[in-house]
Amino acid sequence: MKIAVMRERVGGEPRVAATPETVSKLVGFGATVSVEKGAGEASRILDRFYTDAGAKVEASASAAVKGADVILAVWRPEASALAGAAKGALVLATADPFGNEAALAALAKAGLSVFAMELMPRITRAQVMDILSSQANLAGYQAVIEASMVYDRALPMMMTAAGTVRAAKVFVMGAGVAGLQAIATAKRLGGAVSATDVRAAAGEQVESLGAKFIMTEALKDASGTGGYARELTKDEQAAQAELVSGHIAKQDIVITTALIPGRPAPKLITKAMVESMAPGSVLVDLAAERGGNIELTVPGQTIAHKDVTIIGLLNLQGKIAATASQLYSKNLLAFLETMIDKDAKALKVDWEDELVKATLLTRDGAIVHPNFAGSAEAAPAKTATAKAPAKPAAKASAKAPAKPAAKSGASGTGRAAKVATAGAVSVPAEEKPARKPAAAKAPARPAAPRATAAKKPAAKAAAKTTAAKKPAAKTPAAKKTDGDV
Ligand code: NAD
Repeated sequence: MKIAVMRERVGGEPRVAATPETVSKLVGFGATVSVEKGAGEASRILDRFYTDAGAKVEASASAAVKGADVILAVWRPEASALAGAAKGALVLATADPFGNEAALAALAKAGLSVFAMELMPRITRAQVMDILSSQANLAGYQAVIEASMVYDRALPMMMTAAGTVRAAKVFVMGAGVAGLQAIATAKRLGGAVSATDVRAAAGEQVESLGAKFIMTEALKDASGTGGYARELTKDEQAAQAELVSGHIAKQDIVITTALIPGRPAPKLITKAMVESMAPGSVLVDLAAERGGNIELTVPGQTIAHKDVTIIGLLNLQGKIAATASQLYSKNLLAFLETMIDKDAKALKVDWEDELVKATLLTRDGAIVHPNFAGSAEAAPAKTATAKAPAKPAAKASAKAPAKPAAKSGASGTGRAAKVATAGAVSVPAEEKPARKPAAAKAPARPAAPRATAAKKPAAKAAAKTTAAKKPAAKTPAAKKTDGDV
């Protein structure tokens, strides 16, 4: 049983799909592990750390992959890069299947069994394998760190001999995995934190973190299926906008994370709302990959609008690559472990396992996932070159399939259904061509490597004006909040 770990080829992706810890576990299961030279460098894992863990470091990708029964990767590798792998080799990666049927067909034709880790069902057994959660959690943390570095003031309240510094007001929109971590991080940094969500259940979680939950009285609960939100009606949207417009004008930092399965990210913050904020305010749009929650967001970029900074960077978890790799690798190990017979020290895949069925895209030369099976014929391998992205840029343009995917075989969990409809994955900002924020598209989630841009945007200087804070555009009519946040 040979397992290969490749260096990522998506431009600038700093994460890696195995760490010395996971390598050592795999070796313990009887595997031979080959790691491509330099694979872990951007995550601070030197080749010799892998060697110490029992891996063999190979000088090239082809040497690492040669004869491999399993390939571990952050992003779906191109079929051509896996040419020497064993027949039927398993590929575990963020596969980004939506809109990439030709690339999938090529992998199928190469006889590989590709698993899309982002389609992992959201059930208790699979939590340890959930790459969306592990990476969204880190993105939520990093969003606050990014904001704090651009924000020109201290976050915590400080009572000093020279005077009192007030706590920064931080508002988090969307209290899912990323939002809750953003709340927790902002609280730890001493911010006065408030948050909103359209699911009533999120209120308790927000308050358990010590933040203030705000929600319009008009919106009782917009929970959809599988723990996700449903799209708001026009009236509900108007009520939410009224609440937000009043609240946002008083905030220093806003982190948006709101997503709805199978839809572009809801637009929650208008240009006028941004302009109502005080000079030096900062917004981070974690929904940038799906078009953004903020009207002004430019996916992949940090921009200044008048005196306010809007961070639309992708793959924020890639900025803490060492940690992101640690958790991502553990997700992969946990899934792969279910496919290893430890006594026989060999692969033994239960093709009927619900996790396998939910994530398996290709097998025995065909695309087998129910959401993509039809596309195997539609996108023969010969068209792959023309259609498949030379670079993961195409990840950005993954299109949502027409129907939501309760059919994904995800045991009624919602995660696979969500991803199946929403598409998956994001991409390194610096590798993507300019693209339009998703309008009809509803792609991706996590990922996008270490941004090389300076922490503080150049335009930041413009935010350092002495202009007075503008008043709130409107006082919300119906809301639950208080004057502290
Ligand atoms: P998500 O990424 O789909 O959306 C982020 C948040 O945005 C959600 O909380 C959603 O309710 C909210 N949202 C949508 N529209 C909004 C709007 N107009 N205004 C404000 N907020 C809006 O969500 P997620 O992070 O994947 O998590 C969704 C739920 O699933 C959470 O309750 C989470 O705790 C749960 N979850 C469960 C598991 C598991 O059981 N294994 C794993 C991960 C997450």
